[in-house]
Parts: sequence; structure tokens; C-alpha cells
Amino acid sequence: MTQTAVKEVKNYIGGKWVEANTDKTEAVYNPATGEVIANVPVSTKEDVDHAVQVAAEAFQSWKEVAVPKRARILFKYQQLLVDNWEELAKIITIENGKSYAEAYGEVQRGIENVEFAAGAPSLMMGEQLPSIATELESGVYRYPIGVIGGITPFNFPMMVPCWMFPMAIATGNTFVLKPSERTPLLANRLAELLEEAGLPEGVFNIVHGAHDVVNGLLDHKKVAAISFVGSQPVAEYVYKRGTDNLKRVQALAGAKNHSIVLADANLDNATTQIMNAAFGSAGERCMAASVVAVEDSVADEFISLLTQKANEIEIGNGLDDGVFLGPVIREQHKERTLNYIETGEQEGAKLVRDGRNDEAVQQKGYFVGPTIFDNVTSEMKIWQDEIFAPVLSIARVKDLDDAIDLSNQSRFANGACIFTKDGGSVRRFRETIDAGMLGVNIGVPAPMAFFPFSGWKDSFYGDLHANGKDGLHFYTRKKVITTKWV
Ligand code: NAD
Repeated sequence: MTQTAVKEVKNYIGGKWVEANTDKTEAVYNPATGEVIANVPVSTKEDVDHAVQVAAEAFQSWKEVAVPKRARILFKYQQLLVDNWEELAKIITIENGKSYAEAYGEVQRGIENVEFAAGAPSLMMGEQLPSIATELESGVYRYPIGVIGGITPFNFPMMVPCWMFPMAIATGNTFVLKPSERTPLLANRLAELLEEAGLPEGVFNIVHGAHDVVNGLLDHKKVAAISFVGSQPVAEYVYKRGTDNLKRVQALAGAKNHSIVLADANLDNATTQIMNAAFGSAGERCMAASVVAVEDSVADEFISLLTQKANEIEIGNGLDDGVFLGPVIREQHKERTLNYIETGEQEGAKLVRDGRNDEAVQQKGYFVGPTIFDNVTSEMKIWQDEIFAPVLSIARVKDLDDAIDLSNQSRFANGACIFTKDGGSVRRFRETIDAGMLGVNIGVPAPMAFFPFSGWKDSFYGDLHANGKDGLHFYTRKKVITTKWV
């Protein structure tokens, strides 16, 4: 699709579309074509203050709205998201580059979060013990905490914000979202639909921009909690600065996900799953497969099957039929990825499939073909760093213990998968691997909305993960009431 008009993105504060307090903007590109599709304001701390004050004011009435009434707005919202599914998926493909099928699936993931949050009346229930002593009883009541700041990455413009605001507002909080400046368009559509669903003004707000907006949220006295998802250095920074300012913070960070393929695995399934997990969404998933530790005895067969499947991948504009692999997000990210491919060669890894040779790489968009390295070791940068692109490293190992030892050397611990038919191996993997989300014979073990989502080690800073009951607990606080009946 050719973009005709360049959109001027606005902030959304108190139910109104407002100009930022600055002339400074950043261009938003369609990564498949290199065209500028919008300009996003680089908002200031004053814009943040405006949004937070409005959200703090709205909190006073929103927290008093009966929980089933809040839930009813989310039911309406869910229907609106379903009604606009194709349009939402199209916006994601245009601003992020992932294939339309991937974008369609992302919308589904977002909707599931709304569905889970619409269960707030059950989730918000407390607990009672009618007799803690003679004629004495206690009960726990759950309450919202105030204004929540949400800071999100470019790679899931719908799903990641939906990890945050549906549960936050269903539980009675108000919300200020700072979407990625590289993918700001979908967030504004989410706001329009919230308004259509009947959400009162000021409950959900958006301030677009970069560092200043993030710092504004982290430092604002009226922001009670921060939900962050993004790269490791920024997550660490957000966690430290936010907690230093005595806020609740959950910061989901970068990843380097390890898959283990044992000799008894169904190699057809393993290669299909790993091909999808490594190259789907151009490898720009926090749950992307980035390293495979494969048992020596099946390594040659595994690599040959995987390469065959990678050769069949169609690369191009995600809006075109049949395209599986779209571009990476920006020209600089393409350059960085090509540099990593060079580094891998210099480090002595064997380049089995060179994504620089695919025809699409010469096109205007930011394309990199599927790239596979063999004989990768833990000393190499391509093994250590999150490349966040369609580049897969394969390490040969002698057995399961060797594979687990290798994987556990990583500073990251988001997801990990095992491919095997042996129950004992699965158990050993489950008990000893460092990762927050595990998969058995699947490539992307991303938990659904009702389960907690997050990693360990440098992939996560905080305590309560996103989603599931962790999300509920993060966005609420408790009162325990003890009563003597006299
Ligand atoms: P990013 O860290 O560059 O940006 C994330 C957010 O932080 C954006 O809103 C951005 O504006 C802001 N930001 C960036 N630099 C900042 C700075 N110096 N100071 C203050 N704010 C700053 O991440 P990205 O490139 O948009 O997203 C990709 C990253 O997100 C990858 O590392 C990926 O693994 C990670 N991610 C993690 C998960 C997870 O569940 N752990 C999920 C999705 C993405």
C-alpha cells in the first residue's frame, strides 16, 4: 500500500487530541518501503505533567466506579477490537513491518488481554476468614493504586500495551501510555476505540515521545507505578530510577532465547518450529529463537533441514500475500544486523546461510534475509548479544547437560525450549534451565494472557511479572480488616 498523507501524530490527554508542548518531531517510517508515514512529537516533561495531573484527577472518580461497570466497558472494547481486527493488523504491518498474518495474530493476543481483564469482578474479590478467634474475623480487600505509567517497545505495538492498560484500568487505576516513537500509530487507534467503548475522559492517556517522556513519568510524584517493556539497558535504567523514586516498577527486558534439540527429537517439527521462531517477525520478538544447541549426532541433518526451510521463506512487504519475513524496523538496525553477520564470520562461526545475499536486501525497505551460523560458541558476540533480527546461531553439544550448561551461561533468561520425546529429559530441562518461560516441542513459548509473562536474570527487573494474576497484583494493593463483633 502506498501512503498518501503523512500523519501528524497527537497526544491524547483527558479525552482530547492535543498538540505537544514542542515543535520537535521524529519521522515514523514504513520499514517495508522506507517512506515517511507520520511525524511523532517528541513531547516534554510539561506534556507528561499535564497528562499525569489529568489522570490523577480522573482516578478520584474512576476508582469509585463499580467493578462490573468498569468491566462492561472492557466487554464493549473487546467487541470493538474484534470489529476492527483487520484495520488494526494493517496498521501494525505498516508501522512495524511484520507480516499481516503475524500482525493479525498480535491483535488476537491483545484482545485476549482485554478478555482476561474484563473478568475484574472475579479477580478483584478478596478473602475472608470468619473466625480468626472468638467473635473475631478478618478479610482482605483489594484496591487500585493510582496513576500507572506504561512504556512500550516497537516490536508489539498492540500486544504489549494490552499487557498493561486493560488490567490497570479494569482494577480502577488510570493510565498514561508512552508508546515507542517508532510505532506510535496503533496506540492512537486503541485510544479512539476506548473512547467509543465509553471510557471516561482522563482514564487512559497517551504522551508520545522519547527519553524526556520516560523520565517525566519516572520522576513524577503522582505516578504510582511503572510498567516497562523494552531493551535490557533501558529496563535496568527504568527499574533503578523508578524504584529510587519509590515507585512500583516491573521492567521486562531483552533476551537471547535458547532452544535445545536432542537426538530423539522429531526433526521435522523442530526445524519448522525453530524456523518460525527465529525468522518470524524478522527475529524482532523477545521470544525469538536466537541460539540452538543441537546434539552432535543429529546436527548435520538438523542444519540441512532448517536451511532448506529457510530457503523457502518469502521475504517482502508484510502486506503482500505469502510474505513471511518482513523488514527490520529501521535502516540503522539493518546496518547493525549486517555488522553482526560480519562479526560472526570474523569470530570463526561457519556461515551456513547468508541473509545478505537475498534479493530483498537490495530493495528500499530494511530487509535482511534469514541467516544461520553453525559452530557458534559462548565466547562469540553473536552468541552473547541480543541481535533482534533474523540471525540464528547453532552450537553443537554432546548431550543435554552440555546444552543446559551452555544455555545457563547467558546473562539473559527469557524463554527456552527443548525438542525431545523423552520425559526424563524434559523434566531435567524444566528443573535446571534458567528461563521464565519454557517450551516443549514448540518454538515460541509465549504464555497467554491468563499466565504470567516474563523472564529471569537480565531479562527482567522486578518482582511481579506481566499478565495473569501477577498483573492483577501489580496494579492493586490490599487492606486487611479485622473486626470484633460485640
Ligand atoms: P527500547 O529499549 O529501545 O525502547 C523501549 C521504550 O523505551 C520505548 O518507548 C523508548 O522510547 C524508550 N527508551 C529507549 N531508550 C531510552 C532511554 N535511553 N531512556 C529512556 N527511555 C528510552 O526497546 P525497543 O527497541 O523498542 O524494543 C525491543 C526490545 O524490547 C528488545 O530488547 C526486546 O527483547 C525487548 N522486549 C522485551 C519483551 C519482554 O517481554 N521481555 C517484550 C517485547 C520486547
